[in-house]
Amino acid sequence: MMIWPHSISHGAVKTEDEHRRDICTVGYWVHQRGYVGSTDGNISVRLDPRRVLTSPTAISKGMMQPDDLVITDMQGRKLAGPRNASSELAMHLLIYKRRPDVNAVCHAHPTTATGYAAAGLPLNKALVSEIVLALGCIPVARYGTPGTPELTEALEPLVPNYDAILMANHGVVTYGADLLTAFYRMETVEHFARIALVTELLGKQVLLSGEDVEKLLAARARYGLTTAAPVGAECPVTAESLGADRVTLTRQELEALIEEAVKARIGGR
Ligand SMILES: [Zn+2]
Repeated sequence: MMIWPHSISHGAVKTEDEHRRDICTVGYWVHQRGYVGSTDGNISVRLDPRRVLTSPTAISKGMMQPDDLVITDMQGRKLAGPRNASSELAMHLLIYKRRPDVNAVCHAHPTTATGYAAAGLPLNKALVSEIVLALGCIPVARYGTPGTPELTEALEPLVPNYDAILMANHGVVTYGADLLTAFYRMETVEHFARIALVTELLGKQVLLSGEDVEKLLAARARYGLTTAAPVGAECPVTAESLGADRVTLTRQELEALIEEAVKARIGGR
């Protein structure tokens, strides 16, 4: 078997052969990093306004050869290729339709991030500056049966505003202007999920302030991040927004409250 070069370059304007090699390389990376098991996951690139090049179904993403890939139109009809397209192609097509700036989509089931997705927990805390800068926060789309319109309907409202989405009880989808960007985002989501998990294990999280987050979001343009900053209520959760719901009491105040509640309970009998 041919070993693919372990590097690809940025850029969406490439020959079809280059895109084929890039998809195989990213498939190899996704598999080697344990972001997928068995034949899971799918990767695609927008070749032109009417055609998409995608990984086929029922093949390990770590073992794909350039000739295994499938070309479809924007409705998912196969135009070329010896195999069938992934059953999740509709998700890729939705993203291309909703995001003209996107030319590549990567879907996988990385363990830690998928754990968060299965717990229904978004990766939305302002814990790490680079993550706020790169992705703002990563929401969870509600569950939808794979390969059905339920799944695309669940993603649709989030696609315009985020570049990475956790899919409840399923996995992660990331996308970008080119395939390397889409892959980097997958790597960033899983890396951040691991960091978030470590803070949970340590039992302590110190969040960035709203001011810190604003400064980071304002710097996005300097880093070539052109999409609108993915922010909103609770996205990302800052030190202040977490503190807003927290009430601090002295021991004396707490004891007085308990005493009062107990008296009221006895009095009510
Ligand atoms: Zn999947």
